[in-house]
Amino acid sequence: MSDPKLISKIPDGPLAEKWSKRKAEIRIVSPNNKRKLEVIVVGTGLGGASAAASLGELGYNVKIFCISDSPRRAHSIAAQGGINAAKNYQNDNDSIYRLFYDTIKGGDYRSREANVYRLAEVSAAIIDQCVAQGVPFAREYGGYLANRSFGGVQVSRTFYARG
Ligand SMILES: Cc1cc2nc3c(=O)[nH]c(=O)nc-3n(C[C@H](O)[C@H](O)[C@H](O)COP(=O)(O)OP(=O)(O)OC[C@H]3O[C@@H](n4cnc5c(N)ncnc54)[C@H](O)[C@@H]3O)c2cc1C
Repeated sequence: MSDPKLISKIPDGPLAEKWSKRKAEIRIVSPNNKRKLEVIVVGTGLGGASAAASLGELGYNVKIFCISDSPRRAHSIAAQGGINAAKNYQNDNDSIYRLFYDTIKGGDYRSREANVYRLAEVSAAIIDQCVAQGVPFAREYGGYLANRSFGGVQVSRTFYARG
């Protein structure tokens, strides 16, 4: 059973629904008009590069800029601890709210809450996508995806590559 104190704190209004509401309200660009629009992306880390690739695939004209000598100078290349996802594979009571809360706290309470909530919400799907794309995540001997506790959190939710 989940902690009732946590349940009472689950954002049940505008915060948790902000992204889905935005997605429902946003105006759609017709496919013919997409190629007429130019999108400028600044930065070629995972955030910028994936945004540029997705927008390009959707048909927009994308220009992406990198300030460093090589995109490989991005923080994204340095990261090696793993990816957090609230899949609760370890049955240690993880949840979207716990991942949301830990991420807000880990970011010194300076992150945009609705964005972090969305990150926690889609985290499980991101792991599935990575697996489908062939990311060699560490596995248990039985073949299941392995997890570890990383970054001082109390649950094991980090999907990682064993070195
Ligand atoms: C050593 C290290 C280990 C980490 N380990 C992990 C981990 O294990 N797991 C995890 O989830 N996170 C980890 N992180 C954090 C994670 O890497 C970052 O949060 C994430 O990569 C940020 O991605 P990003 O695309 O937003 O930014 P970045 O990857 O930082 O990319 C930003 C890009 O923008 C460019 N740029 C900046 N200013 C300009 C400008 N004016 N014009 C043009 N380009 C510009 C930069 O040169 C860079 O290429 C780690 C970070 C570091 C440094």
